[in-house]
Amino acid sequence: SEGSSSGTDRELRAPICCILGHVDAGKTKLLDCIRHSNVQGGEAGGITQQIGATYLPAENIRERTSLKAEATIKVPGLLVIDTPGHQSFSNMHLRGSSLCDVAVVVVDITQGLEKQTIESIGLLKRRNVKFVVALNKVDRLYGWKTCPNAPIVKALKSQSDDVQREFKWRVAEVVTQLKDCGFNSALYYENKKIKEVVNIVPTSAVSGEGIPDLLLLLVRWVPEIMMEKLTYVDTVECTVLEINEVKEFGTTIDVVLINGALKKGDQIIVCTKQGPVTTSIRHLLTPYPLKELRAKQGSYERHEELKAAQGVKIVARGVQHALAGTSLIVVKPGHDLEQAEAAAMQEIYNAISLSNENERGKNEDETAIKEISRIQTCKEGVYVQASSLGTLEAIIEHLKTLSLNVPVSGCNLGPVHKQDVMKATAMLKRKEEYAAILAFDVKVMPEAFELAVESGVKIFIADTVYKLVDIFTDYIKKLKEEKKQQHAAEAVFPCSLKILPNRVYHSKDPIVCDVEVLEGIVKFYLSVLFIVVLQVGTPICVCVPRKDRNAEVVHSLGRISSIKTSNGLEIDSAKKGVVSIKIDDDNAQEKSRLYGRHFNDSNELLSQISRRSIDVLKEYYRDEMSDGNWHLIRRLKKQFDIA
Ligand code: GDP
Repeated sequence: SEGSSSGTDRELRAPICCILGHVDAGKTKLLDCIRHSNVQGGEAGGITQQIGATYLPAENIRERTSLKAEATIKVPGLLVIDTPGHQSFSNMHLRGSSLCDVAVVVVDITQGLEKQTIESIGLLKRRNVKFVVALNKVDRLYGWKTCPNAPIVKALKSQSDDVQREFKWRVAEVVTQLKDCGFNSALYYENKKIKEVVNIVPTSAVSGEGIPDLLLLLVRWVPEIMMEKLTYVDTVECTVLEINEVKEFGTTIDVVLINGALKKGDQIIVCTKQGPVTTSIRHLLTPYPLKELRAKQGSYERHEELKAAQGVKIVARGVQHALAGTSLIVVKPGHDLEQAEAAAMQEIYNAISLSNENERGKNEDETAIKEISRIQTCKEGVYVQASSLGTLEAIIEHLKTLSLNVPVSGCNLGPVHKQDVMKATAMLKRKEEYAAILAFDVKVMPEAFELAVESGVKIFIADTVYKLVDIFTDYIKKLKEEKKQQHAAEAVFPCSLKILPNRVYHSKDPIVCDVEVLEGIVKFYLSVLFIVVLQVGTPICVCVPRKDRNAEVVHSLGRISSIKTSNGLEIDSAKKGVVSIKIDDDNAQEKSRLYGRHFNDSNELLSQISRRSIDVLKEYYRDEMSDGNWHLIRRLKKQFDIA
């Protein structure tokens, strides 16, 4: 067989592969293309539709690639997880071991790396999952001549010089972008260091160019770099994908059997929020191949035993509450049930205690605590709730990678209950914008909803991780903008003005004079740089050296009530240059300062900042301040003796 012809005695299992990438990069299409062997008559070449996955035997891949018969493929086949995108990937096991061995990151050649591609690559990097890049939609290059299902090098040879040129610079572009993500990469057929340098496979999911290359690369390169991980062992490694009801069987669990074998009658343990549930496998199911479906009763084939790697449906009692993303544990005869349950307990504990820092303290197992703390919660942050461990982790990681860097204060699995809202209310006092629950693929109980409305906790619900995070970040941005508006009156931008001698038109109540704007704030509007230094409403003061010259006295002059250009145009704010200003003294009680007596043109006019105004700038206007602005603030702070 393929497995034993490798010159070693190892029996290898099929590598498990996930497809990731930005929306519209072609993940679904690529999966379709891989699934349909392009041989007339449906499931030729032994491709089987499994639970949540498609299995391609090595023979099928060999046929598609016209690989010479003597060339070895060390693995029996390839298991491709069916649900493309972040979703399936994030259903990976919480700790260490992952659902997939390798990922295909689909990149649209005409778009290069996009937001979600970069995020996916970041996730792969953190999880240390190897990946190849399918540089898809090559047929979209202008003037591409279609060569259905051809190997990519051959397809490229038949292209015009123009197409080849465009292809080259687009590849170079993607190589540069990947470099920015921290990865060296190369076209796979030019790659000399397959263990370190990321392989790029150009593909078209529409006309099939490069698809044989991609498949062949996966079955030959993956065992090359992870022989150990792909070695078949008896110990079962199995991850729960989802729970569902099937008419003829009742509750079933869909799992990916990563390693080992499952037998009918096996004693198994699944993790539920209520604790480990020990039960036994009543049926092991796989879907019938399409062509046999009509002849059989029911839609699933029953098995006595199934070996890794494959997608399997398990019928068992008491599994309704199994948690997606956790391990399914098999208790072999003679093994210690208690120990196995303790292991399951640990896994559940990891899942649950993510949500509750207080409970962590109760556990003696320090190492486990360290492991969980990979997902760190903060005192101030949002509350995240999801249907599975994997998605929960994905959302939290995604929040972390945002420029806003949203911290998480707590999380939980399953429906949003009143207690969850209670926990989120703690933020109302600490940090209002984080008094929010991000709920993914879970129900919100009516009492929970009521309490949220009553207390002011916001609940965000969406059906994709990205959408959820997007609507939340939009909300945060809007909130910030509102806060900014609310505090606009308190914000004092730093500026320094020079009074022009002989151009003082009124020396008191109000002071009217021409000034030259020397330094001030820089503002960005729609990414165009505007230099605004002076605004109507800015409080102005003047610093006058005392007679002994050892210190200065600060005289408040009032607020700027109007700014005019040299040709008399009324404006709200001014850039550097000469303008005419009017300063109205808003504090009539105090004696007004008189130009010529209390100060003169040798004294600089400054915006009168305060501790409060600095805090407001820091909190709400940070984006609009440049280093120069902060510099001036620091100078003014010293000058005005602000703590
Ligand atoms: P997903 O969002 O990543 O799953 O992307 P889809 O597979 O749904 O593809 C998005 C669009 O791009 C669809 O209209 C596809 O037909 C098209 N598409 C995908 N792959 C290719 C390709 O290789 N060539 C061309 N021309 N179009 C493609």
